[in-house]
Amino acid sequence: MPQPHGKNYDVIIIGAGISGLVCGCYLAKGGMKVLLAEQHFKPGGYCTAFKRGGFTFDAAAHCFGGYRKNGVTKKIFKDLGIERRLKIKKNDPSDTVITPDYRISYWADIDKTIEEFNNFFPQEANNVKKFFSFLLNPDPSSFSRMRHGTFKDLLDQYFANETLKTLLSAPLLGLGGLPPALMSAFIGAKLFSEFLLDGGYHPVGGMQALPNALAERFKELGGELLLSCPIKKIKVEDNEVRGVIFKNGGFASAPFVVSNCDARQTFLKLLGSKMIEKEFYLKLKSMTPSISNFIVYLGLDGYFKSLSKPGTTICSFQHYDLNRAYRSIREANMERYGGYMYYVSQDIPTVLAIIPAPYKNRSYWKNNKRQFLNSFIDRLEQYSIPGLKKHIIYKDAATPQTLHRYTANYRGASFGWAGTPSQLALSDFKKPSFVKGLYLTGHWTTHGLGISGVVYVGHDIAQMILRKRRNVINPD
Ligand SMILES: Cc1cc2nc3c(=O)[nH]c(=O)nc-3n(C[C@H](O)[C@H](O)[C@H](O)COP(=O)(O)OP(=O)(O)OC[C@H]3O[C@@H](n4cnc5c(N)ncnc54)[C@H](O)[C@@H]3O)c2cc1C
Repeated sequence: MPQPHGKNYDVIIIGAGISGLVCGCYLAKGGMKVLLAEQHFKPGGYCTAFKRGGFTFDAAAHCFGGYRKNGVTKKIFKDLGIERRLKIKKNDPSDTVITPDYRISYWADIDKTIEEFNNFFPQEANNVKKFFSFLLNPDPSSFSRMRHGTFKDLLDQYFANETLKTLLSAPLLGLGGLPPALMSAFIGAKLFSEFLLDGGYHPVGGMQALPNALAERFKELGGELLLSCPIKKIKVEDNEVRGVIFKNGGFASAPFVVSNCDARQTFLKLLGSKMIEKEFYLKLKSMTPSISNFIVYLGLDGYFKSLSKPGTTICSFQHYDLNRAYRSIREANMERYGGYMYYVSQDIPTVLAIIPAPYKNRSYWKNNKRQFLNSFIDRLEQYSIPGLKKHIIYKDAATPQTLHRYTANYRGASFGWAGTPSQLALSDFKKPSFVKGLYLTGHWTTHGLGISGVVYVGHDIAQMILRKRRNVINPD
C-alpha cells in the first residue's frame, strides 16, 4: 500500500487491533483527521480469522463479554453504530467447567447457573449468589477495595469450600495464566464477570467480522486506514511527539500518536530507550507479560455425537491442583498441567483447543510443535471427545512464536501484562508523563484486557485526546 509520506494528521494510531480501531472511530467521529497504520494485511490483531484446508478458523479470540444491557461493549458498539452492522449471538451456556467429579455451566439465565452450583455446594448457596451479584454490580468503592488484593483474597471473603474456590478459579488459570493467589482481585473479577457471567457473545460468521465492521465504520467517519504498513519509529523532538516514520522510511506528522502495540515495542523500539525516564525504564524491564497459548485448529468431516454444544467453551481439568498446573506451564508440560479449553464452532465443523504455553525460541517450537499438537489431540480424544481422531481432515497449530509473528505482542502474550496486583492501572502505560502527545491503548496499558477491556480503553484514550484538543482550542 502506498504510504502517505509528508502528510499531516491530527492523530496517528499504530496498530488496528480492536482497541486501535475503537479509539480511531471515536477520534474520527470527534472530527479529527486520523491515520490508522497496521502492519498486518488485515485489521483485528488477536481478533482475526484465517482460511486453511477449506475451513475458516478464528485465529485467537472467539467471543467477547460485557454485552448485557448497559454492558461496556454494548454501550460502545451502539454508540459507534457497530451494532447495526453485525449480527451478534450469545452462546448459552457460554462456558462449562468439567472435572472428574463436577460439571458446571454458565448460563444466560444466572439463576440457572446458581442452581448448578447449589446442587453441588448447597451450604455455599447464598455465597455464590452474593458473589455473582457483587461481580455484576460492583459498587463504586469496589475498585479501591480490590486494588491491592488477589483473587484468592476475594474468594476467601465469600467462600469456605476449597473445591468450590478451585472450580471458580480454574477457567481464569486457562485465560490469564495465573492461579488465584497471584492474580489481581480486580483482574480476576473482570475476567470472571466478562467471560463467564456475561460472556460468550460472538459475531455471526466469525471474529473477523468485528474488526471489519469497525474498520468500515472508521473509514466512513473519514479515517484513513493503511494495512501492511508497519511503523518503525515514533518521532519525538523536545519531548514532544511529531509523527511517525514508516518502515520504508517515509514520515507523516501528527501532534498525537496512539500506540496499540505492545508496550515494550512502543517504549524500547518505536520511541527508543533514550527517550524514557530511568525510573520508568527500570519498571518496564521488571514487568512480566501474561502467558501465551498453544492453539490447535481442527477441521472435521462433520458434527458427531461426542462433540459439545457448538459455541460453548469447555474448560476441562483432570485434577484440582491449580498451583501444580501453574508451575507446569513454564515447563510446557501438558500432562502435568492436566487441563485445556476448547470449543466447537457454530457454523462450520471446526474445533479450537487452547492451552497456556511458555514463549520459548523458534527452534524449540520447530522441533516440538508436531509432537505437542499430536499429544494435545490424544488428550482431547481421551478426556473430552471420544472418536475425535477419525473425524479430523485438517489439523494445525499456532505456537507462542506464531502469535508474536502475526501481532508483535511481546512473547506472544495473550492479555498484555500479567494480571498481578502490582501491574494494575499504572498511569505511565496509558499516557507517559515524559513525552507530550504520546498515548497507549489496548491490553498493554494495565487498564483493560480481553475484548471488552480494550474496547473500554480505546474509548477512554479517545476521550482524553478529544478533551485535550478542546482545551487547546478553548484554553479558558
Ligand atoms: C489465544 C487467545 C485467545 C483469546 N480469547 C479471547 C476471547 O475469547 N475473548 C476475549 O475477550 N479476549 C480473548 N483474548 C484476548 C484478546 O484477544 C486481547 O486482549 C485483545 O484482542 C487485544 O486487543 P488490542 O487491541 O489491545 O491488541 P492486539 O489485538 O494485539 O492488536 C495490536 C495490533 O497492533 C499491530 N502492530 C503491532 N506492531 C505494529 C507496528 N510496529 N506497526 C503497525 N502495526 C503494529 C498488530 O499487528 C495488531 O494488529 C485472547 C487472546 C489469545 C491470544
